[in-house]
Amino acid sequence: MIKIVDRQPLVFTIADRCKTCYTCIRECPAKAISMQNGQANVIAERCIGCGNCVKVCTRKAKSFYNEEQQVLDLLATDPNVVACVAPAFPAEFKEYEDHRIVVGMIKKLGFDKVVEVSFGADLVAMKYKEILQNQKSKKFISSDCPAIVSYITKYYPNLTNSLAPVVSPLMAIVKVIKSLYGENRKVVFIGPCIAKKTESSSPDHVLTFKELRSLFEQKNIVAIDCNPVEFDPPLGGRGAVFPISRGIINTINVEENLVQGNIIVAEGRENFKEAISEFDNGYIDDHNLELLCCEGCIMGPGMYSEGKRYENRAFVTRYVRKKLDNLDYEDWQKNYEKFKDIPLDRSFLEDDSRVKAPTIEEIEELYQKMGKFEEQDRLDCHACGYESCREHAIAVLRGLAEIDMCLPYTLDKLKNMVDELNTKNNKLESVQQALKQSEKLAHLGQLAAGIAHEINNPLGVVIMYSNIMLDEVSPDSPEYEDLKLITDQALRCKNIVSGLLNFARKNKVKFTSVNICEFVNNCLKAVIIPENITVDQKCYLSNFNTSIDEEQMTQAITNIIKNAIEAMPDGGNLNIELSNEKENLKMVFVDTGSGIKDEHMDKLFTPFFTTKEIGKGTGLGLPTTYGIIKMHKGKINVESNSDPNKAQTGTKFTITLPQLNEL
Ligand code: ADP
Ligand code: MG
Repeated sequence: MIKIVDRQPLVFTIADRCKTCYTCIRECPAKAISMQNGQANVIAERCIGCGNCVKVCTRKAKSFYNEEQQVLDLLATDPNVVACVAPAFPAEFKEYEDHRIVVGMIKKLGFDKVVEVSFGADLVAMKYKEILQNQKSKKFISSDCPAIVSYITKYYPNLTNSLAPVVSPLMAIVKVIKSLYGENRKVVFIGPCIAKKTESSSPDHVLTFKELRSLFEQKNIVAIDCNPVEFDPPLGGRGAVFPISRGIINTINVEENLVQGNIIVAEGRENFKEAISEFDNGYIDDHNLELLCCEGCIMGPGMYSEGKRYENRAFVTRYVRKKLDNLDYEDWQKNYEKFKDIPLDRSFLEDDSRVKAPTIEEIEELYQKMGKFEEQDRLDCHACGYESCREHAIAVLRGLAEIDMCLPYTLDKLKNMVDELNTKNNKLESVQQALKQSEKLAHLGQLAAGIAHEINNPLGVVIMYSNIMLDEVSPDSPEYEDLKLITDQALRCKNIVSGLLNFARKNKVKFTSVNICEFVNNCLKAVIIPENITVDQKCYLSNFNTSIDEEQMTQAITNIIKNAIEAMPDGGNLNIELSNEKENLKMVFVDTGSGIKDEHMDKLFTPFFTTKEIGKGTGLGLPTTYGIIKMHKGKINVESNSDPNKAQTGTKFTITLPQLNEL
């Protein structure tokens, strides 16, 4: 059994860079990325190390286990370290026409030997050929791609047995290196693959080409300072084409092509999954599968220069052609004979990471929660990163995804939020308006109270003395009428002053318990109702008893009733309704009068505002009413329409008083 190395976390998110685009979720073949609080996290147990997420994240928010420092430390203390370089290297170092420059640069880092992995691939290819020829009845899945091996052992554990029981070219070359250069030699693999970091413990470290380039930079290693040198033996042969698709077939076909028709090649995250699924379902189980997780190792996530797929391929094949043209075949054959018997067998362990699927009922319940009530609500738009609404729902139920990842759902939610905010905004605006009004009235109240208080006493003296004098003169005397006029007008002034005092809330309230329905009825009786006006009074109260200052409230209610009647000179209807609203007593007065013009609405409660003729209105009715209602800790609200083209004209006054027994 091959020891798996625990280099964790192999792939991880750099939190500050992740911006919830769901691209990594979409591109992860193992669905190993969960979304939590808007951050995409890699779930180590589910990750197959393919590095797709690293490749596709444009914000560079995905990174992988870095071994640069460990390798530098090793090179600093050990002069005998061997580097082995993956056959994809010509696609990485396109800038150097002569591969020997790259070898020279690697040596300059401090490596003693630099060996090609491709000789290992030669050995492995022969082993494949042997297996395929000897066990024609059994069909195999290639096991040279560590991400594919991981995918099968985790998600198709039943197919673990079908993995070709052969080591990877890297593991083979490490065996060769140890046998050729000494068992104690430390080996560092350099290649395009992240998954190799956990494939086996046979190399001591695994560097990607990205890390290698970073080491060159850290150590200021540039091509012109390095001597071009050839790879150390053993030199690889046709195995150098391994990293491109059909690599195994091409390598095997050195001599014959009898197995080719039997092999299905699939590469890239969609294709390999499809091939495995069909193999599992028995559709193609009479074929062997050659699978690569990337589109060939030449497109691996550890490549620094990602490049174009066919250009990368061309660089590798050009290198192989040149290599084979110059290959000392005798020398290769000698090496092959020498190492062909080293054991290349391998076995695999199941690592079942499948999660139990949620039930149809659970999925259905979640759909309801997300507002996806009908089939047509499930758009399968892929915006969440999952292939269908169903897959997204399953991921949510498994705790891997969040509901908010669904774009239509989130848009709907946002729209509702905007509507709600608008309503709240409107409410806030009207409250602000009311606040402004009440502030204005409070200032006026202070002024009015001051004046009223000052006038009240002298006025009392005028009334008292004019009454004394009135008592003293005979009604027939010429002064009597004049004195009478003085007394009447002084009394009128007193009424105005007491109105002002009420408005300014300078009076005290004296609460008594009354039957509010009877009370309103009595107020109605105190007002002369013309014949052309009908009055309807409705009581919807559960409890008629209420505590009010009877005298003051009489004044407030009669003011409202009088105003309504005065607004209906040509007749009409006054509707009075008493009801409970939550904890409050609500009194509504609706008339069918002339209505109040919009521009008058915010002046109604200002003292002395009147639209009535001089002598008819004082403009103190509503301010007084307002003051009285405020003293009762209540609210007064008015709505009106004065435009007959819009609707029936009229005015509605609503008075709400808190549960009065609390006062
Ligand atoms: P006054 O009745 O002395 O004019 P108020 O303070 O009672 O003073 O009312 C102020 C003004 O509000 C009135 O002049 C009138 O223009 C308007 N008003 C009050 N109630 C009504 C109503 N029910 N219908 C139409 N206008 C009204
Ligand atoms: Mg009035």
